[in-house]
Amino acid sequence: MTIQLESSLHHFNPNHFGGISDFLPTADKCERDTLVIACADHGAAPDNVSFASADRFFIVQHIAECVPPPKDRECSSLFKSIELGFSNYDLRHAIVCGHLSCGVIRNWLRDESGPDIGGLRATTVKAVDETYPELTGSAYVERLICEHALFQLENLQMHPLISSRLDARVLKLHLWIVNDQTARVLAYEPQSGNLVPIEEMR
Ligand SMILES: [Zn+2]
Repeated sequence: MTIQLESSLHHFNPNHFGGISDFLPTADKCERDTLVIACADHGAAPDNVSFASADRFFIVQHIAECVPPPKDRECSSLFKSIELGFSNYDLRHAIVCGHLSCGVIRNWLRDESGPDIGGLRATTVKAVDETYPELTGSAYVERLICEHALFQLENLQMHPLISSRLDARVLKLHLWIVNDQTARVLAYEPQSGNLVPIEEMR
């Protein structure tokens, strides 16, 4: 199943993205070369849903895979973990990984009076409500989850640690959304701006 997204919501350079070939058994790789930022509520370590060998992944799990913008970096334990990953390993890929059954986001939607999580209220809900007014129910929640992950990837690419490596072409971005029921992975295809089954990526 492809999820069609409104590409104008995000600002990415397609040249900064990798694809499925980076993770196939035939890919050039070194051990521990992939940063994964995933939700603490994921239920299974994200390497368990990947077809790549688990020893490639440096995994940081955090509520709703939130990545703070660069101005909030200093007070972020997430970024201390990410910096540790880059200082210890030759990381060549960065995956932001969301999941369709996210309980953190569903619980937050039931009581929006709580603190904002990773710009959900300020950015994602506003953007999704304006862009996809036809969506309701589970389709709305799933679109919110997908767009939230993309906004986190946008935050990630703005950090100097990441942007300098993207510009030097030594790091590639990836955006995965896992279907918790099937363990299938949808990946962001930058050319189309859609989420497609990872094995069908162009
Ligand atoms: Zn979650």
